[in-house]
Order: sequence, then structure tokens, then C-alpha cells
Amino acid sequence: MLVAGNWKMFKGPTETARFLDELEVPAGVEVVLCPPFTSLAEATGRGIAVFAQNVHWAAEGAFTGEISVGMLLELGVEGALVGHSERRHHFGETDETVRLRCEHALESGLRVIACVGETEAEREAGRTAEVLTRQVAAIPQHEHLVIAYEPVWAIGTGKTATPEMAEEAHALIKGLHDTQVLYGGSVKPENAAELLGQPAVDGALVGGASLDPASLAAICHAAVS
Ligand code: PEP
Repeated sequence: MLVAGNWKMFKGPTETARFLDELEVPAGVEVVLCPPFTSLAEATGRGIAVFAQNVHWAAEGAFTGEISVGMLLELGVEGALVGHSERRHHFGETDETVRLRCEHALESGLRVIACVGETEAEREAGRTAEVLTRQVAAIPQHEHLVIAYEPVWAIGTGKTATPEMAEEAHALIKGLHDTQVLYGGSVKPENAAELLGQPAVDGALVGGASLDPASLAAICHAAVS
């Protein structure tokens, strides 16, 4: 079971150090933390895998605001999130830039969690399978890549996919791509066991509930219960 915490634009180095001092991870779960760029150095070297929240496809260059694989590896960072819906919807990430980021990161030795998911309008229009199929087609097959299914309408909203909805989407993705699939979208200690108990759910990508060490630990316990 893999439980990844996406901290988004929360926690500088001081809060990161405090969080790691308090976090207790049960056996049987791999925890991945995705802090902001300025907290990566503080988070590495503490026995927990650290991923960046994004990574560029060029080795270096005139790309203001971006970060390279080499810069991440130098800090001991193991991987990167790619294609999070907040990147897709607020910062113009496309299936093509997701493909470029994934390919370069994997070729250069990083692990990747690539995110896919439909919006509420797409689900209501009956387009979930079409959207997931298109997004998954842009993601390369690689032993160090896992996919996170994150229905956009469930991220940061408190709305969660039902276990049946998650299972159906995960089974579709696994039919297209030979990989582990994490569920993301308002996962919290109260709903983690039911979601993570689905056969095609291999772990969780957690936003808000990963900011508190006790809450992240409770989700990890639910993952192995
Ligand atoms: C996320 O940021 O990937 C996420 C799933 O957020 P939340 O758990 O807060 O919905």
C-alpha cells in the first residue's frame, strides 16, 4: 500500500521538520510526502520518500518557475507528482506536457505519480471513461510510475467518490495501463478503510488530511487494517 501526501502550497521548512518529528508510519505502508519546493531539502534524509509536486522535461534552461530532475536528485528527492488537476486547471498543464514531464522524469531516474480524473461536468455528461482513456493514453508505461485517479469534483471539496465509483474507475485505468492506481479526493481517516479496501485501489493520494501527522498516520493504519 502506498499513501502519498500532497501538501500543495502549505508548510515551509520549519513546519516540515515539526511534522516529520511527529509522524509515525505503521509497517506495511510506504509513505510518500510531496512538500513545496522550498521544503524538499528539509524533508529528505528522514527515511520517508520525498516527491516534488512537479518537474520540467528539460535538463535546464530559460523556464522561469520550473524545476529540473537534476535539481531534485541533488536534494535526495525520489520522484515527482505530474499532472495534478490543480496544475491542469490553473496552470495550463495538458496531456502533452504531462507526457513530456513523465517521460523525462522516468528516463532520468525519478519515480512518478501521474494524476488523472474527470470534472463534475464530464461525469454528469457521461464522459468519465472517455476522459480517463484520453488522459491515461498520454502516460508512459514504466515500472516506476503509478497513476492516481483523482475525480476533480472530489479534490478539496469534502465530496468523495463512492467505493463503487472508485473501483469502477480504477478497473478501467488498470485495463488500459499495467500499473498501481491510487485514489485521491477528500480521503480522510473516516473514509480511508472503505476506499482502500476496494480490490483495484492500491493506495491513496491525500491532500488536506495529509497536513496533520496524526491524520496521515490514521489513514496509513486504515490502509493496512
Ligand atoms: C490532492 O491534492 O491530490 C487531493 C486529493 O486533495 P484532498 O485530499 O484535499 O481532496
